[in-house]
Amino acid sequence: MSSENKDRTKKPIKVLVNGYGTIGKRVADAVILQDDMELIGVADVNTGYRMQIAQNKNYTLYASTQDAVAEMQKAEINVVGTLSDALEICDVVVDATPKSIAAGNKKLYDKAGVKSIFQGGEANELTGFSFVAQTNYDDARGKDSVRSVSCNTTALTRIINPLHNQGSVKKVRASLFRRAADPYESHLKGIINTVMPEPSIPSHHSPDVNTILKEVDITTIAAKGPFNVGHLHTVFIELNQDYSQDEVMELYRKEPRIAFVSSQDGVAALNSVNEIMRDIGRSRNDMWEVAVWKDILEVADNELMLVYQVHNEAIVIPENIDAIRAMTDSPLTAKESIEKTDQSLGIVNDFIAQS
Ligand code: NAD
Repeated sequence: MSSENKDRTKKPIKVLVNGYGTIGKRVADAVILQDDMELIGVADVNTGYRMQIAQNKNYTLYASTQDAVAEMQKAEINVVGTLSDALEICDVVVDATPKSIAAGNKKLYDKAGVKSIFQGGEANELTGFSFVAQTNYDDARGKDSVRSVSCNTTALTRIINPLHNQGSVKKVRASLFRRAADPYESHLKGIINTVMPEPSIPSHHSPDVNTILKEVDITTIAAKGPFNVGHLHTVFIELNQDYSQDEVMELYRKEPRIAFVSSQDGVAALNSVNEIMRDIGRSRNDMWEVAVWKDILEVADNELMLVYQVHNEAIVIPENIDAIRAMTDSPLTAKESIEKTDQSLGIVNDFIAQS
């Protein structure tokens, strides 16, 4: 049976997005592209431009708290009810509220009998299950609650996964250069003329990778700098088998959600990759793929060295979509779900050739 036919046998999965911010608005836009899902609405407490635009998109709006109802109505944001009302009619809630809020929402979702997906700001312990589609889609089947891991953890996992699957990873060491603030909050949290290291080794990222790739020996060091277009990782992977550079490149070419860029094509820095996203007409300039520099990739003495870019605002969006399918026992296999999500969003493995 083709994946399209399999889908027709099931009712669309009813999805609510709670927290319509950087991640939430992108998840909502991705849900409406899926023919096996229905966006029943978006919930927030925000009274500004974000929810005004959601209203203009004809999304059904909910107030996430009772207290927010009056403020939202005053701002002419026409909410049809509260979070509790929305929970009565959805199968899955994608919670993309800030760190301080999300964990407290879990009991509401559990009480309503609604499956829940949390984001990387939450601890693994909140759901007891951390998710990256190409690594553990099948293990998420039937789960009531999962956490889509952070942007950095998602990228590291995608990069390590194909070599790990071949039993070839001896040790991973990585430096992460992180954006200081998201574009929308650059006037609030930006730093200038400095780079600020995370004050511990390992940074919080490698233990997080171990919530998914449990036995991988990995250590990360991280620092944030005065930019907001994404993150840059430099990674050393010690291998316990011989690989040529071509063999590694071939593995990555076959892996979903990884695409090559090259400094030979003028891709000199983070802003160049961002410009490609603008030139190929990506919504919000989003890059859901990990962009690996193919000419800054070496294998020497059984060690792979590489550099790649992560678009923190976008990379976890396809993961949230696949998590929705896995948790609700979609008939699609992991591969079929990933392919369906990737096709719907326009995810590629060559930005220029497929533009
Ligand atoms: P954000 O600040 O952009 O958006 C949060 C939204 O939640 C806002 O619209 C805010 O109004 C709303 N909100 C606040 N209080 C609320 C409440 N009580 N109920 C409902 N909504 C409320 O945050 P974000 O960057 O989208 O982060 C959300 C989660 O995603 C966090 O766990 C974060 O760590 C994770 N994440 C963020 C990024 C990123 O690059 N921004 C990447 C990966 C994962």
